[in-house]
Amino acid sequence: MKIYLDGKFVDEADAKISVFDHGLLYGDGVFEGIRLYGGNVFRLEEHLERLEYSAKAILLKIPLNRKELAEATCETCRQNGLKDAYIRLVVTRGVGDLGLAPWLCPKPSLFIIASKISLYPPEHYEKGLSIVTVPTRRINPAALPSTVKSLNYLNNILGKIEARQFGALEAIMLNDQGYIAECTADNIFIVHQGEIITPAASQGALRGITRGAIFDVAKELGVPLREADLTRYDVWCADECFLTGTGAEVVPVVKLDGREIGTGHPGPITQQVLASFRRRVLVEGARI
Ligand code: PMP
Repeated sequence: MKIYLDGKFVDEADAKISVFDHGLLYGDGVFEGIRLYGGNVFRLEEHLERLEYSAKAILLKIPLNRKELAEATCETCRQNGLKDAYIRLVVTRGVGDLGLAPWLCPKPSLFIIASKISLYPPEHYEKGLSIVTVPTRRINPAALPSTVKSLNYLNNILGKIEARQFGALEAIMLNDQGYIAECTADNIFIVHQGEIITPAASQGALRGITRGAIFDVAKELGVPLREADLTRYDVWCADECFLTGTGAEVVPVVKLDGREIGTGHPGPITQQVLASFRRRVLVEGARI
């Protein structure tokens, strides 16, 4: 596997980052997870825009401009002969000393991996996931904006560990007011009385690129969609529920906290959204 690392393509075994890199020492950096579908990079411009905003928010300078980033991303796929892939683009603060000070890290590092990801076994896309609400709260956006896709994922990892302890593959994380923020690595949507509803980013959700695509899918399907504060009760009593993410794509949820959602099977709107999303990814996007 060829990895893009600071301007060069190197073999995986030679793709090395210093132990003094603040991305490793402090989670000081930003990243994107992007999908390549049949040779088309899905919503590349949106991913790169989010990366730039994340970097701006933490005062990190990305070594490449938008065009160069796009080219490096596509070239990483080409170098690996990939037509379908999960692409991880990471910008770290770079090498510094053992203190926190980012201004003592003169050169950010940028690397791109094009590989595979499979978050949930395929049968869950047919049957739906059973998820739980975990005790760990999503970090308050006033402490670290959830819209920044930073390398600091420990909050989500704690949620993921708790999900597993409760026998679930994914979990709802509440914000500190008790409203639903998102899942550990996915955004959440419910369907209630013919409407699709999702928490606003201000409740502690990442502004997911897949989430954005679902807004377009809903418009195409003529199903009303709005952002609203959601509680666990809203999900328990929803007709349908589904999760979205670059890794997860669109996955139905049929149970939360031991309560069946709707009929206990993926609902009709979820199935339409999933089908429309799967059509869309094949035709949208930048050709590598
Ligand atoms: N929330 C979190 C915390 C995530 O890590 C992800 C995955 N990137 C998402 C939501 C979904 O975002 P996207 O659709 O951009 O992958």
